Amino acid sequence: MREFRLQANSEMRFNLTRESFESQTRKRRPWFEPAHGQAEDVCHAVCPECRNPIRIIGLYVPLPNGQSAYGRHTGMQQKGFPFFDAESFALCPYVRKGKPSRSARRKSIEGLPLYILQILVGNFDHAIRILREDTGVNISRTLAGKLLANYLGTRGYLYAGASVSNTPWMLAYMNPAFSIFGQFLQEEATLIRNAVAAVPGAIVQPDGKIWKDGSFADVGLTFAHHNPRIVDNRLVETLKLWVLSHEQTRDGNAKIVGRTKFTIRPERFEALISAPAHRQRRNTDLLDIAKACLIAHDVALAERVFQALENPTTID
Ligand SMILES: [Zn+2]
Repeated sequence: MREFRLQANSEMRFNLTRESFESQTRKRRPWFEPAHGQAEDVCHAVCPECRNPIRIIGLYVPLPNGQSAYGRHTGMQQKGFPFFDAESFALCPYVRKGKPSRSARRKSIEGLPLYILQILVGNFDHAIRILREDTGVNISRTLAGKLLANYLGTRGYLYAGASVSNTPWMLAYMNPAFSIFGQFLQEEATLIRNAVAAVPGAIVQPDGKIWKDGSFADVGLTFAHHNPRIVDNRLVETLKLWVLSHEQTRDGNAKIVGRTKFTIRPERFEALISAPAHRQRRNTDLLDIAKACLIAHDVALAERVFQALENPTTID
């Protein structure tokens, strides 16, 4: 991998270059240990995806064929890096072979899944903001609550392809097709505006609301085909978005009237959740909805998550 984090609970990722490694670590322990007779100074950090410890190779000695420095999992707990989650390690996109099936779930909630829930519930407003930006649909509070209830119901936090940083997109992906009838569209939501124009009886009102023109109309969205893959030692994750009409195909399925594919940019979510409190625009209504949904899902789990939220320095 060509990115790193400082610790398992660090929200920012950094490009793996000598300059950024030195700036972020100040060349201090536990990240930097002088060579003491070894071929290279010993550098450690944390995998940007599974958050387990990595050893960094090639930062201070040139690698064959002009290869850039890269990180490699240590596969075990490391001094100075207390977090190690064996299941996350086995499922890390840099380790596992192929893409995870949508139904693949982790066995244990300990470690990363619990942290995913903590981040999602504590930053539900940021997650919805990202989905609003990516779709152009001004997802209402009611719809946001439904998306979260479905995500929790299917235990999306245990999905084998879930990481902390792709949480907003996995929130959408873990849902079945859902209606956006009655939702408001942003001005620049070109894909969905064009798609609505192809749905008989559906209109976009001047205020951006998707509504019907006399007869029944429905417009839906589906997020599909989560495809994480490693390209040039970096994780690239894509997701497809389909706009559905109430019109049916001959086999009774919904007609797709708009489609796009987009690349998940986890650094956008990381930037939102790690911004200083005074620079964050928070939506307390959405945060309250997230807490209520989690309590409705599982009271004991909600208690654990709320406790962790009150003590954000821990991840275990
Ligand atoms: Zn990893």
